[in-house]
Amino acid sequence: MKILVPIKRVPDPQTNIVVKPDGTGIVEDNVKFVINPFCEIALEEALRIKEAQGEGEVVLISIGSTDSTEQLRTALAMGADRAILVITDGKLDPARAAEVLAKLVEQESPELVVLGKQSIDDDANQTGQLLAAALDWPQATFASKVDIEGQDVTVIREVDGGLETIAFTLPGIVTSDLRLNEPRYASLPGIMKARKKELKEIPLADLGVSADPKVKQLKVESPSKREAGKTVETVQELVELLHTEAKLI
Ligand SMILES: Cc1cc2nc3c(=O)[nH]c(=O)nc-3n(C[C@H](O)[C@H](O)[C@H](O)COP(=O)(O)OP(=O)(O)OC[C@H]3O[C@@H](n4cnc5c(N)ncnc54)[C@H](O)[C@@H]3O)c2cc1C
Repeated sequence: MKILVPIKRVPDPQTNIVVKPDGTGIVEDNVKFVINPFCEIALEEALRIKEAQGEGEVVLISIGSTDSTEQLRTALAMGADRAILVITDGKLDPARAAEVLAKLVEQESPELVVLGKQSIDDDANQTGQLLAAALDWPQATFASKVDIEGQDVTVIREVDGGLETIAFTLPGIVTSDLRLNEPRYASLPGIMKARKKELKEIPLADLGVSADPKVKQLKVESPSKREAGKTVETVQELVELLHTEAKLI
């Protein structure tokens, strides 16, 4: 089965994020960038599906500047077969990203697209759903278990009250939740092999997709500073503070 996996380059979640003084974004100097953790989980699932079926192809897509090559090479080292980088200088909003992915789905004809449920930079949680709508494909979002038998896909989703099991017939879209799997590390032979794997660059204009955002980001702000914690000697003191200061009880 051919599976597409979109991979987004995001700041490392361990990084201390500093917002630019004019509120137009975050300071990127000296920030380490990584594969969005949910995209890593999506890739791991695609690799497991391919391994279980004993055949198929896992194709990566990233949309961004050539800086994203680093994350694509890492994903190739994890085991993906080849990669496509859609080059654009500006950041695309989820609607435009979904348009790009839809164009590549038309070109590549995969049976399945596995995405992260959200990227940890913008937390939009939209791209998978918008892609499913653009293609008029079924979607199973927030997957914590995926089973495939022939053309039938069964997905378990974690919802507030427990677990929901849903099913669809391929082709379709799955977005990964945190507990779907534990992504593998790239092995040394994997890193060596990745250097020779195909990484094709396509300018955004070649796909006929506009970079103009449908939604504009007006301002970015840091959360308000948290006050230092207090150490309490007794449970009674804690309960008192929760009542008088935190006003939680
Ligand atoms: C890719 C990704 C996926 C994630 N998915 C999930 C998810 O599915 N579900 C989820 O819940 N989170 C999720 N998170 C959030 C992640 O789990 C949080 O970073 C973590 O819960 C924060 O814990 P912390 O103690 O490091 O953070 P902190 O911000 O330091 O603490 C969070 C809270 O924990 C309490 N706390 C922390 N330390 C103490 C202490 N010493 N004594 C008393 N209270 C303390 C406080 O109430 C504090 O407000 C995700 C994060 C990433 C990057």
